[in-house]
Amino acid sequence: MAKSLSCSDAGADCGWSATADTEEELMAKATEHVKESHKDMEVNAELAEKIKSLIKEV
Ligand SMILES: [Zn+2]
Repeated sequence: MAKSLSCSDAGADCGWSATADTEEELMAKATEHVKESHKDMEVNAELAEKIKSLIKEV
């Protein structure tokens, strides 16, 4: 089973999504994306928790 995450699920007006085999890998991709494309957002523990709650099994 893979794990998937979409930025739009977090309420962002953004078409980004990613799939990875592990939660760790997906979190790394999401962190990189937020840093590159959502410079007004800070990747902190709160955001990491929110991202984790949005991860779907695909
Ligand atoms: Zn995004």
